Amino acid sequence: MTKSNLARTLREPAELVAEQLAPATALPALDRVAARYAVAITPALLDLIDRSDPDDPIARQFVPTAAELVMQPGENADPIGDHPHSPVPGIVHRYPDRVLFKLVHVCAVYCRFCFRREMVGPGKENALSDDAYHAAIDYIRSHSEIWEVILTGGDPLMLSPRRMSEIMADLAGIDHVKIIRLHTRVPVAEPARISDEMVAALKAEGATTWVALHANHARELTGPARAACARLVDAGIPMVSQSVLLRGVNDNSTALSDLMRAFVECRIKPYYLHHGDLAPGTAHLRTTLAEGQDLMRQLRGRVSGLCQPDYVIDIPGGAGKSPVGPNYVVPMQNTAPDARDADQETRYRIVDYCGDVHLYPPET
Ligand SMILES: *Cc1c(COP(=O)(O)O)cnc(C)c1O
Ligand code: SF4
Repeated sequence: MTKSNLARTLREPAELVAEQLAPATALPALDRVAARYAVAITPALLDLIDRSDPDDPIARQFVPTAAELVMQPGENADPIGDHPHSPVPGIVHRYPDRVLFKLVHVCAVYCRFCFRREMVGPGKENALSDDAYHAAIDYIRSHSEIWEVILTGGDPLMLSPRRMSEIMADLAGIDHVKIIRLHTRVPVAEPARISDEMVAALKAEGATTWVALHANHARELTGPARAACARLVDAGIPMVSQSVLLRGVNDNSTALSDLMRAFVECRIKPYYLHHGDLAPGTAHLRTTLAEGQDLMRQLRGRVSGLCQPDYVIDIPGGAGKSPVGPNYVVPMQNTAPDARDADQETRYRIVDYCGDVHLYPPET
């Protein structure tokens, strides 16, 4: 890539064509995609795209395609059911002890598989109004069961350090709020935003800050991205990861283990591997649950225990997340003729990482 690209985020389909990220013939379809779903590719991520590879896993995450115009049955503008659990604008309160707080509707980059794709982007509302912000803070203050506030969006690290420190102070000033967690893609998409001022802004008296990094391919963890994460962790902010299982991006055991290892190398504990949500126009990026379980089996035992995320699905409609990883233990009926008197204990079959089955407790 040329130096002139370094400063600019690509937002228009015509720019993607000019950058040889899409053929000119695709332009009319891409204009239709971009009219509906936001597009942005930052210089840091553009730099990672190998244009000679038609299946480049970075391009696949950020360069729009005509496939996004195709809706599948079951796909939904609110795939994980945030709306039914939103008591006031900006807040999603699904689980008793924690809320999502959506501060901004913009991101540094727009992921083609985004589960909030109908809600995020510069074309949508930009930020909570002052009144809505204060109503959200009041909601959190008046619900003493809220132990954790999860800042999401959009991407909360799109805020200025000054605004961020005000928000952190407001939240940390609420007695029962002990944990403030941010979900972000900024350390990989725009690492320079993780400035010393931003790191300082994330720390607030009275609460502990955690940062969850969203990345889906090891190549996203470039030198500058790793340095941005190191600034956070060195400042005492623990990090976890979240990734989305994506067809053609990380749906093979090499890509997935490389990604998890890259996180651990950066002192980021793998946390969630999300099954692709039923967001509109994203079927081409989803895998099946069986494929996801198979990949999880391949990770287990072959890659360090530090590198094992939980494979989870957000149940459509709003019932929340459930782990959907492979099951390694199956209770068995005890069919021994004397079972009733001698051994009432349930036996289990436990599968090891090679796929071999063992009885527990072992047969004596
Ligand atoms: C995903 C989600 C959370 C966070 O869940 P964890 O399992 O704690 O990471 C919290 N609230 C809502 C509404 C969510 O969708
Ligand atoms: S960064 Fe998150 S909210 Fe923004 S487009 Fe990507 S998945 Fe969606």
